[in-house]
Amino acid sequence: MQFTKLRISGFKSFVDPTELVIEPGMTGIVGPNGCGKSNLVEALRWAMGETSAKKMRGEDMDDVIFGGTATRPARNLCEVVLHLDSPNLTAGTPGVKPDSVQAEMEISRKLERGAGSDYRINGRPARARDVQLLLADNASGAHSPALVSQGRVGALINAKPGDRRQLLEEAAGITGLHSRRHEAELK
Ligand code: ATP
Ligand code: MG
Repeated sequence: MQFTKLRISGFKSFVDPTELVIEPGMTGIVGPNGCGKSNLVEALRWAMGETSAKKMRGEDMDDVIFGGTATRPARNLCEVVLHLDSPNLTAGTPGVKPDSVQAEMEISRKLERGAGSDYRINGRPARARDVQLLLADNASGAHSPALVSQGRVGALINAKPGDRRQLLEEAAGITGLHSRRHEAELK
């Protein structure tokens, strides 16, 4: 699976619609302090179903919506759309026919101030859980160890054995199975 495009609007400092095409290979984002490099990675993490406002460096999830500047008023809506190429699909993913091979997929998350998040997979309404599972099955997602935020490198080195085990399970691609078992046990 590959991320091919990220479209952002009204999210943090990205008030105007912005499109980032992610080509195969390595992508580097460079720019001065405060220009929005971390916000871009957070937009990706957010579209993948991050539910912690703290991990988005805010108090409340609404803090990810553009909060205004001296020259521009705040927004009440933000949206991030993530394009994926060739994800592994399991039966039960909304917006997807079981056992179908899908080259391109689109995951979107929209947030309106005070109204919560609205997720879609290929334009069809989905739960946060659906998006999280779809990506966990692809060894990715909001909690993937592939996403290392600023200052987390030291924390990973000093991780407790249990946390380190989680990293290994992510790397082995079995996190989706654990999540499914947990969900089945709750039913
Ligand atoms: P550094 O090189 O220091 O790590 P960076 O390029 O990673 O910087 P970010 O942390 O992505 O920068 O962006 C910080 C900027 O985003 C700040 O100017 C901050 O005011 C702005 N910002 C964050 N949240 C919002 C929001 N909700 N509305 C408007 N601007 C925001
Ligand atoms: Mg940064």
